[in-house]
Amino acid sequence: MDTRSRNILFLLLFPLLFFSSADHALADRYATARRNMVLEIEQDVRDTRRHIGRESLMQGVMVAMATVPRHEFVPAASRRLAYANRPLPIGHGQTISQPYIVALMTDLLQVDKNDRVLEIGAGSGYQAAILAELAGAVYTMEIIRPLGEKAGKKLYKLGYNNISLRIADGYYGWPEAAPFDAIIVTAAATHIPPPLLRQLKPGGRMVIPVGTRFMVQQLLLVEKNTAGEITSRQILPVRFVPFTGGH
Ligand code: SAH
Repeated sequence: MDTRSRNILFLLLFPLLFFSSADHALADRYATARRNMVLEIEQDVRDTRRHIGRESLMQGVMVAMATVPRHEFVPAASRRLAYANRPLPIGHGQTISQPYIVALMTDLLQVDKNDRVLEIGAGSGYQAAILAELAGAVYTMEIIRPLGEKAGKKLYKLGYNNISLRIADGYYGWPEAAPFDAIIVTAAATHIPPPLLRQLKPGGRMVIPVGTRFMVQQLLLVEKNTAGEITSRQILPVRFVPFTGGH
């Protein structure tokens, strides 16, 4: 190749090299922020050990938190806050939960790779992605159509192929896919929806915030033993957007 054509080739390749390294730098910046977020979650867990009875969460949960790109699930305008340990608005009056709460709720479910998990309140799709890193199959429901559609597209784009999404009132669960090893509700309900209890496998676990917008809500861990008996335990006070729907 003569010098001139080598120069032309370089000029043609230069933007490619430039853009791919810029992309890389951006990914790296998020990686650092994501690592810091994980450290903050670990600190919050230590600070709340009296509530959760442990000093740390399951390693798999922390790996999922360190892996899933939260910045992909927040609106472009709040990307720079994507890894702050706080909830963020996602439109339609809804929020993506605080990372510490996402990690804690996931941990309480004790999900393993053979499990089928139901989520009520897909929102941005972030919690579903975290669950999909750990479970065999995730079923997630969202009542606000535009949010559900956006979450579905995002999860597909990121390559999650073990998540099914349905736009419907989650109060009634997803009977065709039941029973579930674990159920997570990410909006505050006034009571535990009986259809969800029915769709929980014996030996299964449910995490649900119960309370109203104006009262202290409690995060409950509900367990169904192998005999089908239900027990529940308050974990800690929380603040979630309300569970809606016509029930
Ligand atoms: N898990 C979400 C957090 C979403 S906030 C995330 O990771 O981003 C709670 C969501 O629950 C909202 O999107 C709200 O629209 C939804 N929701 C409220 N009531 C619902 C119901 N009855 N059925 C399904 N989704 C519901």
